[in-house]
Amino acid sequence: KPVLAVVGRPNVGKSTLVNRLLGRREAVVQDVPGVTRDRIAYEALWNGREFTVLDTGGWEPDAKGLQGAVAAQAERAMEAADAVLLVVDARVGATATEEAVARVLRRSKRPVLVAANKVDDQRMASEVHSLWSLGLGEPMPISALHGTGSGDLLDAVLEAFPATPREQTGRGAGPRRVALVGKPNVGKSSLLNRLTGEDRAVVDSVAGTTVDPVDSLVELDGEVWRFVDTAGLRKRVKTASGTEYYASLRTKAAIEAAEVAIVLIDGSEPLTEQDLRVLTMVVEAGRALVIAYNKWDLVDGDRRRQLEKEIDRDLVRVRWAERVNVSALTGRAVAKTAPLLRTALDSWDTRIPTGQLNSWLSDLVAAQPPPVRGGKQPKVLFATQAQSRPPTFVLFTTGFLEAGYRRFLERKLREAFDFTGSPVRISVRVRE
Ligand code: GDP
Repeated sequence: KPVLAVVGRPNVGKSTLVNRLLGRREAVVQDVPGVTRDRIAYEALWNGREFTVLDTGGWEPDAKGLQGAVAAQAERAMEAADAVLLVVDARVGATATEEAVARVLRRSKRPVLVAANKVDDQRMASEVHSLWSLGLGEPMPISALHGTGSGDLLDAVLEAFPATPREQTGRGAGPRRVALVGKPNVGKSSLLNRLTGEDRAVVDSVAGTTVDPVDSLVELDGEVWRFVDTAGLRKRVKTASGTEYYASLRTKAAIEAAEVAIVLIDGSEPLTEQDLRVLTMVVEAGRALVIAYNKWDLVDGDRRRQLEKEIDRDLVRVRWAERVNVSALTGRAVAKTAPLLRTALDSWDTRIPTGQLNSWLSDLVAAQPPPVRGGKQPKVLFATQAQSRPPTFVLFTTGFLEAGYRRFLERKLREAFDFTGSPVRISVRVRE
């Protein structure tokens, strides 16, 4: 996993930025040898790629004075990292301290990025420009507080990392990663056994890939897939107190390690809170989703009607996900999973060209403008797809958009561009 070291003076907004980079993910303090009090490692994920963020300590003057501490910190960051991110307060500009660290970083063989933080509006552009003087390339304007610019910054970070085959994702870059998740006893191990059954080839090694021993490579429908963290499925863990908590953490980790999740639900019994929690984890992690109702061999007409009601009532939030009714016991419809995984991943990978997106958007907004708020009519100026995996759109507007209108936009977006099986994120940035 590549490592990004973040360096910066105290108060430049380094911690706020690190929290931004980690997004909604909980900061998990890692047990890495050599990580001491002043270096904390966090796991981060962006566009399906995992990396480690090394938050190096603030630059407190030591025996050698501030300059010495700075140089030492920069040296340490360079040793440990695959790329270094220098955070500068754009409102203050480059101080002698930054000049000193830049001198060290310019000698580095590692890629270095400069984030100009606290750029909260356009007027700051000239301050950002002055940071070219550090000799570390183009300064990237961000506002860690407002979250602006961090997407572009993360894209640049990923580009800066050396590419290794193991970390490349997507088509032609190794098997796609699938999490098979669901509450205990829903039939995960049974389904995995069915999928890897003797009639199908179980692949142990694929040219050019290193297989994590806890994952399984499975050939389905002519394609090899990596089912992540299946070790716990194959070897049933004995239930003890606290197990559920760990099972939930493990589920979460598997989802995050995967690109697409199959959420298995027991079709023969009423939907439970636990099922909904797992679905929420997938949506929040921004992963593609296929819902599989298992134990279909036990489902009769009555249960089927009840289940339709549950779907209408409780699964509205994930109605974009495809559902399949399977039986791990009889093998019913199990062969349908691979095509559904593919559809979901295609949606997840989708990039809508900016021109196409905006011509669609301007027609839509002209026909149905956002509701007036506080006597003002918010204008939707422009949209761009900031990322795929999952498709993430940023809308620039002149005013706040109500939740109802945002939902309307998402619904229309899905109708126009078909994101079956993938969550879609829309964020709105208000320009004065
Ligand atoms: P896991 O905890 O999710 O891995 O669940 P298991 O695969 O261990 O399955 C739990 C129980 O459900 C076992 O007794 C299985 O035999 C049973 N089971 C799994 N899938 C099916 C199915 O499709 N139909 C029926 N009738 N039973 C199933």
